[in-house]
Amino acid sequence: MYLDFHAHFNSGDPELVKKFVANCERNGCRAAMSGGLHYGGHDFLPNDEVIDFCKRYSDWLVPLVKVELWDAPPDLDALRRWADRGAKGVKCIYPYYPYDHDLYMPLYEECEKLGLPMLFHTGNYRPNEEDMRARRPTLKNMDPLNLDRPARSFQKLRIVVAHLGTTFWRTQAAELVKMHANVYADLAGSGSWMALSAEEVASLLRPPVLLCGDNTKFIAKLVLGTDCYVTIPRIQTEGILHYRQILSKIGVSQEIHDAVMGGTVESWF
Ligand SMILES: [Zn+2]
Repeated sequence: MYLDFHAHFNSGDPELVKKFVANCERNGCRAAMSGGLHYGGHDFLPNDEVIDFCKRYSDWLVPLVKVELWDAPPDLDALRRWADRGAKGVKCIYPYYPYDHDLYMPLYEECEKLGLPMLFHTGNYRPNEEDMRARRPTLKNMDPLNLDRPARSFQKLRIVVAHLGTTFWRTQAAELVKMHANVYADLAGSGSWMALSAEEVASLLRPPVLLCGDNTKFIAKLVLGTDCYVTIPRIQTEGILHYRQILSKIGVSQEIHDAVMGGTVESWF
């Protein structure tokens, strides 16, 4: 069974959700779903509704909650309530300050305490109407290097660098994965799983020394994340195909293949 750690709950239409779940079933892939209101020009499903849908389809859907990182301290009471209701992880994106701001540290501490892995958007983010109101340094706030502070401060917190930094910060994202035992990455989105060749992935995640040693030990820190949407389930199908091709061309063991395609994240849940 695969597990897709990066899926968006962008519609509460029961028919579309049913079709999305049917596609997960065909792919043999559970999906960790995140919603979240009012960020970066988008409105996804509220966290509580995400949790409700995931309960209804608990064989296939796992709830993550989107926690707002804005100019006030994150709401830890809400986080604990969502965790009590079954949330299995946290998604962060489009922060007001960089991810390593003092204001956000208590959230990371609490996630570590609750054993909730965190998925952070990094890199490219299309300009949108909200940008004109917020006037924030959106890309710089989502530079993967901002994840160094949470990673080293909370070493039991599992951090997933979504999109491996995108083309803005590939090297930095890969180096973080190699340096921090608790940092992982996904190749979410066609801009990553389709755009990155197996050779590039292998080169980015190659150990810096001992070139004839174990060249796949950092590949094992990738996790499946497709960036699919409830309204566009085929992205999951295509993402799985590309992940399998990349892993197959790199020549990873069955054990690493299984870990990347879901085993690692499953063990966190
Ligand atoms: Zn995404």
